[in-house]
Amino acid sequence: MEQFQKYSLVVTKNMAVLSAGESFLNYIGKSKLFNLDQVVPPQDMIQLKNAVFAIDPGASALTCFRIRTSIGKLNWIAANVKKEDNYEETIKMELSDIQTLKEDDDTVRLDPMTGLLNKKAITDYAIHLTQLPNPVGFYFCLMDIDHFKNVNDTFGHMKGDEVIADVAHIIRDCVGSNGTVGRIGGDEFMLVLEHVQDKPKAREVMASVRETVEEKYKTMPEGMNITVSIGSAYYPDFADGYDTLFKLTDKMLYLAKQKGRNRYIIYTPEIHGNLNDEVKVAAATRQSVSESAKLKLILQLMSRFLHKTDIPIRVAIEDVLVAYDLDELFIYYMDLSKCRYGIRRVDLDADNFRIEDKQENMTFLESPLFQELFDENHVAVLNLFDLNKEKHKELIEYMEQHGRRFMVVYHMVECWKPGYVVFTNERENSRRLSESDILDLIYIARMIEITSSDR
Ligand code: GH3
Ligand code: MG
Repeated sequence: MEQFQKYSLVVTKNMAVLSAGESFLNYIGKSKLFNLDQVVPPQDMIQLKNAVFAIDPGASALTCFRIRTSIGKLNWIAANVKKEDNYEETIKMELSDIQTLKEDDDTVRLDPMTGLLNKKAITDYAIHLTQLPNPVGFYFCLMDIDHFKNVNDTFGHMKGDEVIADVAHIIRDCVGSNGTVGRIGGDEFMLVLEHVQDKPKAREVMASVRETVEEKYKTMPEGMNITVSIGSAYYPDFADGYDTLFKLTDKMLYLAKQKGRNRYIIYTPEIHGNLNDEVKVAAATRQSVSESAKLKLILQLMSRFLHKTDIPIRVAIEDVLVAYDLDELFIYYMDLSKCRYGIRRVDLDADNFRIEDKQENMTFLESPLFQELFDENHVAVLNLFDLNKEKHKELIEYMEQHGRRFMVVYHMVECWKPGYVVFTNERENSRRLSESDILDLIYIARMIEITSSDR
């Protein structure tokens, strides 16, 4: 039964090609082949050489490796390798393309280059999750290597393959037991984070992929500074099925690319609008969260805070930080040397940022002179230049040291432990908060106070 296409080849022990038939050259799409390493990936080449080395002169053995075909695909080859008993120890190979067999085999659901699930397997898995009678929530992510064509163009396809395999390993390591990963195209990957239910964890996983890739390649030569972009959306909150989920996530990936690459974007309706809205590149930039979007955010926060006491405060405050274009947000309960929640926005460039955790010691909050700054609503709006230099020396020093020009502090007196919510705005190009923004922040602080007093 002849099932596989077969080719013959004669090579030296260094894999220099002595003779290759016309049909093999057609198969690999080359008019001449000098060495097998032109079509066999480096990691397979090492194995092949080791296998050949182990064969005694006059004996033969069977081995497997992959070859890049004329259409750019890596096909699995089974090779019957015979080492001639002559002075040169030339090697004759009978190659059989077993790719068809592998593809027909249901158990082979892996992408051969990376060992991740292949496109069909990971897609089927994501669809399966969306079709469960009681769907489990999961963060769905699409990831694409940035400017990958440059790697192929500058360093060749083989190097490109190596990068894809290395990036795949990074993704697998960073995702770990949080989810399942597949390769869905040349430099594209799908991440299904079925064990991640909250935004901070999702951010953590995506940030670790982004950072690990950037770190690995940052000292490489020009053209090899690999970075990745990721789009993500949570199912089932924002999509009614796989198709919508994919489109929405793909749109976030597109946005990440548009906004300069090397970033992840998680779909947030208040910021990114509806699926069918035109993608506005400026949509998530600092000036552009519209007033009505803020209103929506407040209303949403209110109902989440009031109806669902399990709202992760960390998630809520990240949305607030973005919507109100703040630099930092801190919440203290009682212990002013350690904030309960502290987040900071780090600008990557004029339009883009990421959010990090931050700890800060604000013991001055409890000084009696500082208490005088609160009005009857327990609010202190602090502008560095309006403060009384004599009276608030400590505060002015603190603000100057930290480059702060503007802070809104809300004193939570009703919590089970009194505390403070501190919003800061410091960047050179920060726009000043409007009066209505400040009022919003006070509502938000009050909501935090009310929920905290329930606990
Ligand atoms: P962008 O930042 O917009 O993603 O730019 P890009 O250059 O990465 O563009 P895109 O993702 O569209 O292109 C991916 C390229 O990957 C196209 C193709 O030449 C290359 N490619 C596809 N499959 C493979 C593969 O298996 N190996 C290698 N080395 N390259 C591949
Ligand atoms: Mg790409």
